[in-house]
Amino acid sequence: MDLHKQAIVKKFGGTSVGSVERIEHVAGLIARERAAGKLPLVVASAMSGETNRLVGLGNQIDPMYRGPAYDMLVASGEQVAIALIVIALEKLGVPAKPLLAYQLGIETDSVYSKARIKNVNTAELEALLNQNIVPVIAGFQGMDEDRNITTLGRGGSDTTAVAIAAALRLGACEIYTDVPAVFSADPRLVPKAREIAKLSFEEMMEMASLGSKVLHVRSVEIGAKHNVRIHVRHTFQEREGTWIVPEGEIMENPVVSAVTHDSATVVIKLQPIPPQTEFMAKLFSTLAAKGVSIDIISQSESADGHRLAFSVTSEDEPLARQVMKTFLPPSVKMDVLDGVAKISTVGVGMRNHPGVAARFFSILAKHEVPIHLVTTSEIKISAIIDRERLETAARALHTEFSLDQ
Ligand code: ADP
Ligand code: ASP
Ligand code: MG
Repeated sequence: MDLHKQAIVKKFGGTSVGSVERIEHVAGLIARERAAGKLPLVVASAMSGETNRLVGLGNQIDPMYRGPAYDMLVASGEQVAIALIVIALEKLGVPAKPLLAYQLGIETDSVYSKARIKNVNTAELEALLNQNIVPVIAGFQGMDEDRNITTLGRGGSDTTAVAIAAALRLGACEIYTDVPAVFSADPRLVPKAREIAKLSFEEMMEMASLGSKVLHVRSVEIGAKHNVRIHVRHTFQEREGTWIVPEGEIMENPVVSAVTHDSATVVIKLQPIPPQTEFMAKLFSTLAAKGVSIDIISQSESADGHRLAFSVTSEDEPLARQVMKTFLPPSVKMDVLDGVAKISTVGVGMRNHPGVAARFFSILAKHEVPIHLVTTSEIKISAIIDRERLETAARALHTEFSLDQ
């Protein structure tokens, strides 16, 4: 048996295991693959809606709580899913073993609710594969040095899957989901979005970090670093989807490859702030110490004094508010804008094509979309706008950059 040629990691997302019928469909897919001589390893998310339900329960008691109990709570949905998959596989005569992260040895740091994988122990996986038993692994979770359960951040099952493929030195990893491919925009928001056959790791990384839910950003980082190509495809359609590959393998790049959005963002505005840089240094280190990650920052001067605005994810809003309450002197007025969203265009082609920013802002101006914050990099432009203008802005940018199908 050649483990490296035959083993293939298959990750199934929440919708793919969202009901008993779907779980049985997934089991059938795995059984067929095994019958064809492959050695599948399965990674699964919780059944759709389950993680949100668990987060909601915790929030009812204390929305600010972060720590091992939070991760134990939200990680529990995956346990149910993998047990059901194993039951369905064994019903089909396929020997399988359910594995939680601590049983397998997925070691992470102790940053609860946003932990990073440090190491994946492959000994048990290799032993199971050698016996032709299908390992069915709980995604999204890990274990820290003190044997606490940790979680990798929302959408983190993708990362479990790619990390396992990397640890086994496999060249690819399959992500089965509820869309047939990665699209040039979220098809739910932009109906004219089209499928992308091949996308570079770099672009996918930007898209994921700018809010495109289709892949967890860490999964793409790990794929890029360890040369694991990621194949995003539909669970219920037997055809190829999108391959995420090194940039060098893509012959032609459009100027803009995708329009990405993130509705889970809030802007915090402070005014007037003390002019000393030390104030910002202290503010951001206090937020960082609490685990709040800051996205876009803008500072300006006006007749009313210095003004600071920055964005954080909606998930971190309660925590950020709490930090502000204790940190800010009474003279500083705080405004929280929560009816906002981030809209971005992404493309490695932007490197060689000047004028993308001009087109981006002209389109937003033409459609009367006011902008709260802006940030750019070599391959992306992002703006925070009012959420009620998101659909208009996304569709207009998609058309402007010739992405409509
Ligand atoms: P899973 O539960 O399988 O992990 P997710 O909900 O995490 O699925 O990710 C799939 C969803 O990502 C799709 O249903 C789609 O609405 C959303 N999405 C956002 N941007 C894109 C995009 N550019 N291409 C495809 N899907 C996208
Ligand atoms: N179940 C987790 C979540 O909903 C992890 C995942 O879906 O990848 O975030
Ligand atoms: Mg997901």
